[in-house]
Amino acid sequence: MSIKENYEKIRNEIPDHITIVAAAKARTAEEIEKAIDSGVTDIGENYVREAEKIFQDLGEKAKLVKWHMIGYLQTNKINKALPIFDVIQTVESAEKARAINKRAAHINKEIPVYIEVNIGSELSKSGIKPEYKLIEKVIREISKIEYVRVEGIMTMGPFAGNPEDVRPYFRKTKEIFDKIKALNLNNVNMNTLSMGMSNSYKVAVEEGSTMIRLGTIIFGERNYT
Ligand SMILES: *Cc1c(COP(=O)(O)O)cnc(C)c1O
Repeated sequence: MSIKENYEKIRNEIPDHITIVAAAKARTAEEIEKAIDSGVTDIGENYVREAEKIFQDLGEKAKLVKWHMIGYLQTNKINKALPIFDVIQTVESAEKARAINKRAAHINKEIPVYIEVNIGSELSKSGIKPEYKLIEKVIREISKIEYVRVEGIMTMGPFAGNPEDVRPYFRKTKEIFDKIKALNLNNVNMNTLSMGMSNSYKVAVEEGSTMIRLGTIIFGERNYT
């Protein structure tokens, strides 16, 4: 099936209020252009350098969609990331938020961010530890930062062959999300719960996800060459 058919099939399958982010790592500008032409509204990139190149290649077309940073953001890449991305989904500490703030202030751009939670406490994954008190503390700190606005929580969740095995982790992330949202903190606008990938998005949606990040199921298998 084509990118267009893949995307339309999933778009029709899930409720309208759920945002689909096309996870575009290792895809060519041509493939991403096809996705945009198929109606994709949001693109996720894992690497600043890759995003920069794609952004340039796409020219005006890049401006038709929102760009999400979904990979680990190194501090020394923040300056390059800020002009490209509309959302940084991978903020894991107040320190990182302050580093973003300093550079965002320079270009006078307020940047929405999501807090990445390492819900499975996996050593191989980044993100804040899944302890509610800690997460609340970090978000309270970030809420005082001028150019950074917390708008959601993002999680990868442990990979499992059977998506049912990820369900408890998604459920736990949703509980954290709801508790933070209920605090109604100033300068925090908790409107997005970003969880669910190609093999787990159905379970994620059942557990209250509002944004799914899909690569393989839209673009086909990745081949890293
Ligand atoms: C690659 C990636 C995805 C999409 O993965 P698929 O399994 O191809 O759907 C989603 N989120 C992040 C952070 C990714 O790196």
